[in-house]
Amino acid sequence: MSGTSSFSEAAHVALSNSQQRRNLRQATTSIRAKRDAAVGEVDQWEALREEGRRIKDRTMRHLDVHLERLEERVTAAGGHVHWARDGDEANAIVTRLVRDAGSDEVIKVKSMTTAEIGLNEALARAGIVAHETDLAELVIQLADDRPSHILVPAIHRNRAEIRTLFRRHLADTEELTDDPAALAEAARRHLRRLFLSVDVGVSGANFAIAQTGTICVVESEGNGRMCTTLPQTLITVMGIEKVLPTVADLDVMLRLLPRSSTGERMNPYTSLWTGVADDPPDGPRAFHLVLLDGGRTETLADEIGRQALHCIRCSACLNICPVYERTGGHAYGSPYPGPIGAILAPQLAGLRDHTSLPWASSLCGACYEVCPVKIDIPQVLVHLRGRVVRQAKQDGWRGRVAGERLAMETMARVFASRRRYEAAQRTARVTARAVTRDGLVRPQLPGPLGAWLSSRDLPAPAAQSFREWWRAQPDQSDPDGHGGAA
Ligand code: SF4
Repeated sequence: MSGTSSFSEAAHVALSNSQQRRNLRQATTSIRAKRDAAVGEVDQWEALREEGRRIKDRTMRHLDVHLERLEERVTAAGGHVHWARDGDEANAIVTRLVRDAGSDEVIKVKSMTTAEIGLNEALARAGIVAHETDLAELVIQLADDRPSHILVPAIHRNRAEIRTLFRRHLADTEELTDDPAALAEAARRHLRRLFLSVDVGVSGANFAIAQTGTICVVESEGNGRMCTTLPQTLITVMGIEKVLPTVADLDVMLRLLPRSSTGERMNPYTSLWTGVADDPPDGPRAFHLVLLDGGRTETLADEIGRQALHCIRCSACLNICPVYERTGGHAYGSPYPGPIGAILAPQLAGLRDHTSLPWASSLCGACYEVCPVKIDIPQVLVHLRGRVVRQAKQDGWRGRVAGERLAMETMARVFASRRRYEAAQRTARVTARAVTRDGLVRPQLPGPLGAWLSSRDLPAPAAQSFREWWRAQPDQSDPDGHGGAA
């Protein structure tokens, strides 16, 4: 996805999908209500958020130290650490590890990092089948679809669609109804066979603790626990920003994440493991941690943009965002949708490939209000818009940014001179008269200005400006206080 108009083009298509909009509104409204209730129970929620922000900020300042410590502890616990500069390297490492384990199948825990690097596709090219075990990820995989939400990847699909999908792909589902319990049972039967037969598990990580070398996966279904304990070999692919210095830091994050994410006090399954199991076969005999850079070091170098690396993937910003609710996740063209996607994807994948995403927001600030680690998403969006403009300047002003630049420069010239400003007011008044109906200006304009006006009400200019009115009053001085009646 590239080009300044990509998000708006994709959003335009999404907006015509009323079924998807209904599904999204229903789901996000209910998650939001649960989150509000769970957060409302915590007296010191704001202090906890501030603590979360401070931990992330402090960690990023010494990320190299914490990562080296993590490597040392994982290795000491019998694990192996692999460093990957980008997605291709990470995919090659995982492919090699699966082959070395003698398998041509893996079972996977839901993982945004592996979606970011396209691991399933890379494994498929190498002849290795990746089975998603999270219910929503399974739905996405069976439908050959893309996830559209961080927490609920299949949020855009309803029960009837899922039943149809399961009937088509899963065994013994001829009589399947769209009752949630029946759908879950069908998935459970399908997945259980895989848990018991596939020898390699692949996971992401919500957190990794440098102090102990412990990896943490937070989930709701228990499939993660199965994938991280039953296979002989476990491979975890983790972005380097997920490291936390100490166990005490994890305590803070585990109080912030479930409340902000699913609206629960504590999520049903929190799996923690350190290296290999002491007593095989109860746990993997081989553990590999793949640490992915993938644009994160470069993001870290940007003092404002680096806040995006603080994200703990709770999805609260998606559930509150009016833009996301209307467009859905696919419009963002990245595994990271919504407000966090608008600031993370352009930085990880390169601003040139996602120039439209910093504009995928109304800048209302709701995302900042709910973010458990206080990422100032509107600030980063505005900052990234500035970077896109500076980049366009370097490239010789092309595309939409060029038109905006011309409009802004013209406005700056008009606003810089009272004479020009008043002349513009008079011109606008005369010109608007011909296209004003019921007090609103309704011009039939082509291009972006016409599109902008087609969804907004532009009131007709007043018949008289304040200054004109003031000057017309008997014995009034200049409204700017320069003295002298007009
Ligand atoms: S940016 Fe904040 S609110 Fe959004 S997913 Fe990340 S942690 Fe949650």
